Amino acid sequence: MQRSLYWFTKDLRINDNIALNIASQSDALLCVFVVDKRWFSATNYQSIPLGIKRWQFLQACLVDLEQSLANLGQKLHVFYGETSFCLKTLCDSYKITDIIYTDLPGSYEQKIVNKLTEQSPSLTHHSIEQFTLFSSDILPFDQSIFPVSYSKFRKLVKHVDVPLPVELANKFPKQPVAELSTDLAKIIVNTTKKPNWLPSVTTINDLLLSPPFVGGETAALNRINNYFKSELPASYKQVRNNLSGWDNSSKLSPWLGYGCMSARQIMQAIHHFEATNIKNDSTEWLYVELLWREYFQWVHFAVGVKTYQFKGLNDSPPLTCFYPERFKKWCLGNTPYPLVNACMHELKQTGYLSNRGRQIVASCLVNELAVDWRYGAAWFEEQLIDYDAAVNWGNWQYIAGVGVDPRGGRHFNLVKQTQLYDADGTYQKTWNTSSAQYTQHLDSVDVVDWPVSN
Ligand code: FAD
Repeated sequence: MQRSLYWFTKDLRINDNIALNIASQSDALLCVFVVDKRWFSATNYQSIPLGIKRWQFLQACLVDLEQSLANLGQKLHVFYGETSFCLKTLCDSYKITDIIYTDLPGSYEQKIVNKLTEQSPSLTHHSIEQFTLFSSDILPFDQSIFPVSYSKFRKLVKHVDVPLPVELANKFPKQPVAELSTDLAKIIVNTTKKPNWLPSVTTINDLLLSPPFVGGETAALNRINNYFKSELPASYKQVRNNLSGWDNSSKLSPWLGYGCMSARQIMQAIHHFEATNIKNDSTEWLYVELLWREYFQWVHFAVGVKTYQFKGLNDSPPLTCFYPERFKKWCLGNTPYPLVNACMHELKQTGYLSNRGRQIVASCLVNELAVDWRYGAAWFEEQLIDYDAAVNWGNWQYIAGVGVDPRGGRHFNLVKQTQLYDADGTYQKTWNTSSAQYTQHLDSVDVVDWPVSN
């Protein structure tokens, strides 16, 4: 008898979910999501991994998933605590034989899986590759010998067909019955209560009514349908670099990050648009960007923890340091650079920033402020609704010149960027409070510790 536990992570959807379909063939099935305590504890970089905006988004994702699973006769069990501990306890309590999950490149997730394998050696693992467009068996190269450059990667996968999304299974099994000792019962009850280390909770109505990014598969499918039903994909390449404008890019990243939709569903929507509307540079460019995401995922898979190291993939530590005051000013949007301030305010207030905005502020932190790039990456991790470990740290490495960029780092000229993307100052007016006095100096003291007046 196969008693399975489906561990939901970055796959908060029921459609195009190969792993869930596999789980549906079990004799009994327990669907689980664990809110990990670690997400809310401060890291070495003065940030926390999961900030309030993404936490709100995630809660809405879970509400939506709970409803979808209920329609299939399943219950979503949400637990709070240390993930490996919760999973181990559940596997013991429910006499689980098989654990099923989406394969993720993150080193923390890998640690959880390794620990579980060690503690419960008889458990069968089904780790399904579905966070990416391709799976390792169809990639035409040895994934362990990454990184090659992005352009090489693009050439190599040019003729590889992206698999089509799969249909939802039509039958699901019952839940297993727990066999609980008193101790286990106590633990289970405790881990289902909302703990006091969670940030203060908004009501469910607030979560569902907080546009523009509403968490969950339902909202994800609405966005993908609306975007590809419109003419917008046909002009994506011309407008994607604009600093603001909801429709200047697809805005699919937050849902992609939590797997409320799959990259393959987006690919299918691009192909459908090309077949029924127009195939041009812009539709091709959407694929190019999705391939960037793909590339960073496979690089992360190959290099593991090097993704988070100061010296990066290149083993070349940059000539930067850590200036707490400069870092703080950057986070608060109080630097001598108005465009950077505007971007940082938008990020803090909305949890989102355009790709161009991210490049500008990242380059500023690394080049003008000479701050250790990892602090910036960690701040983004806390703030972004669409945070993705591989893509975020990969892009930061790229800009800091320690990653996969063959040109060795990017320095964006702030004056030129302002002229190009906000010549009339509209963006800055939107995000910089007119009455605020922003600093004119990076540091409040000079090299010999004299105060610098503003
Ligand atoms: P679109 O322009 O519509 O692109 C479609 C999809 O392609 C995106 O949803 C995304 O999955 C992918 N994509 C687009 N640009 C990139 C890129 N530069 N690198 C990799 N994939 C890309 N994106 C994240 O999803 N999570 C992050 O944590 C993240 N951190 C970033 C940090 C920095 C310093 C930089 C420069 C970029 C980062 N990006 C990140 C990439 C990019 O900025 C966002 O994916 C994009 O702005 C999301 O908006 P969109 O969905 O409208 O993108």
